[in-house]
Amino acid sequence: MKAAVYEGGQRIVIRDVEKPRIFDNQVLIKVKYCGICGADLFIASGNHPRIKPPTIIGHEFAGEIVAINQLKGPKNLQIGDRVAVKPTYSCKECSTCKAGYFHVCKNIGLFGIDQDGGFAEFVKVPIENVIKVSDQVNYEEIAIIEPLAVALHSIRRSRFRIGDRVIILGGGPIGLLIGLLLKLAGASLIIISEVNPFRIKIIKEMGLIPVNPLKDDLSSIVKGKTDGDGFDILFEAAGVLATSKQMVEFTKIRGQIVIVGLFEEGADCDFRNLALKEQDIVGVRVYTEDDINKAVKMLETQQINVKPLITNKLKLEELNKGIEMIRNKDDVFKILISPER
Ligand SMILES: [Zn+2]
Ligand SMILES: [Zn+2]
Repeated sequence: MKAAVYEGGQRIVIRDVEKPRIFDNQVLIKVKYCGICGADLFIASGNHPRIKPPTIIGHEFAGEIVAINQLKGPKNLQIGDRVAVKPTYSCKECSTCKAGYFHVCKNIGLFGIDQDGGFAEFVKVPIENVIKVSDQVNYEEIAIIEPLAVALHSIRRSRFRIGDRVIILGGGPIGLLIGLLLKLAGASLIIISEVNPFRIKIIKEMGLIPVNPLKDDLSSIVKGKTDGDGFDILFEAAGVLATSKQMVEFTKIRGQIVIVGLFEEGADCDFRNLALKEQDIVGVRVYTEDDINKAVKMLETQQINVKPLITNKLKLEELNKGIEMIRNKDDVFKILISPER
């Protein structure tokens, strides 16, 4: 079968590999779509600390079960089922797992980084990671489940309450999904700070309010929109130096800062004023199994429309091109790869 293999350095090679063989309590999935994520860009730049070559990358995948080897368990999966996958797995033995926090396991692994992932014609995963999705949800939407679960988890980690005024720094896929969920949850004001003009266009089309800090004075907008107080809750979803400097200022006294973005080049937070304003700061890592299940339910019940996020569909052979497009900040939002086409 064809697959995108990380071969070390900055090399991702599309080549023929052996089709995976499944063992006890595993399923074989024919991949329909797999989304390109920030983590894949990190791998492509040669900077990912965990991935060891050769590994098939890709963790945001959706597909159809084509083989199943079920020995136990309540999950009644069948060949032909349309499925989403929870791409994280935990050791179940460390102190964090024993305390019940599997998603922040000390030895957490991810398909597409620690084991072969979804930029391939087929992928094998344990049955416990598979979630059946109803036929009304199409495969493109299922490929957005993972970022949707991150957004859901971010809000559940916060102490957001209906009526709160919220700012999101960073209007990428995660920032935008947080905005859409907060709108659904009854925020009285949602502002998304984003510099990329194409992203700004999508944010507007989705009915949210973008602000471009390169064009407008964000400080005075924050003051003007919040009666001079700052926001109840700030979601940091960019993970860059510039946004880290804004967090304390834009959040109100006794407000909350939620860190969703992964700071790769360091941060600069005004801790003196954070203390004086008695603000809380809370971290977010991936999602729980419950978050993934709830994200599936939200798509099944059509609570949220994720289709406008998908701007491009490329072939597996075009994966490196897709990564380049995101890196060059071309007019793209979420790019899905289809190994079938
Ligand atoms: Zn991802
Ligand atoms: Zn563990």
